[in-house]
Amino acid sequence: MTGAKVGSGETGPDTDSHIVFLTRALKTPVIRESFSRLADQAREESWTHEQYLAAVLDRQVTAREASGTSMRIASAHFPAAKTLEEFNFDYQPSARRDVVANLGTTNFITAGDNVVLLGPPGTGKTHLAIGLGIRAAHAGHRVIFATAAQWITRLHAAHAAGALDQELIKLRRYPLLIIDEVGYIPFESDAGNLFFQLVASRYEHASLIVTSNMPFARWGDVFGDDVIAGAMIDRLVHHAEVLSLKGDSYRTKSRRKTGTTKQTEN
Ligand code: ADP
Ligand code: MG
Repeated sequence: MTGAKVGSGETGPDTDSHIVFLTRALKTPVIRESFSRLADQAREESWTHEQYLAAVLDRQVTAREASGTSMRIASAHFPAAKTLEEFNFDYQPSARRDVVANLGTTNFITAGDNVVLLGPPGTGKTHLAIGLGIRAAHAGHRVIFATAAQWITRLHAAHAAGALDQELIKLRRYPLLIIDEVGYIPFESDAGNLFFQLVASRYEHASLIVTSNMPFARWGDVFGDDVIAGAMIDRLVHHAEVLSLKGDSYRTKSRRKTGTTKQTEN
């Protein structure tokens, strides 16, 4: 780049300030910051007009996608930053690498399918749920995360205000809704019904990721109603990938490693 030419090139200050004005109108600050530098480069490298236009637009779209992704991640309210890349499949062989990789493409969200992660505490259920949620955000899908107890509180409040249907419609605008920790605490009596309504309202429309430390056979106890639990599970798993994670808690792994008893991992 030749410093003297920056910003003027063969266009002149009038055209430049007009472009600045237009980029303000279009709300495209990256084009405003990059058009002049890229024009110099285009002249030096004899780009076609189309190549120049593509280069300028590309800068803006890339920046917009990045800020869209961070906005979607921030508004998802993930409890921690966990990625699929950080997940150690050698420690958790029951999570099949190919299955998780396929889910990581987020095709299941486009299809409106569900993911259920079952297994004892510390086996990576929440980690995988967040990792998939972050993939979703990157792929342009809005995602929202809360624990089962938080969802019950929210649906309960909507129900009490006579606005449950509106709330469920609003939630359907999120292509991915994550329900973490079904079963850690037994729910109150109307929780089963509220949960059923949430699952039913998304059935074949929008995706759910549900994690639970309880096998399906115990969900009747969790929700205090075998019939409702059965109907809920039926809809949940009809189009779903169910991953059953096994093994010891990853949380105590390092403790065991540094302890006196020798353990073979994996
Ligand atoms: P769960 O939700 O099944 O109780 P978490 O997903 O919260 O378990 O995992 C507990 C902790 O261990 C988290 O910090 C998580 O990132 C980490 N962890 C669990 N499994 C793995 C794994 N296979 N690879 C890397 N980190 C893991
Ligand atoms: Mg968890």
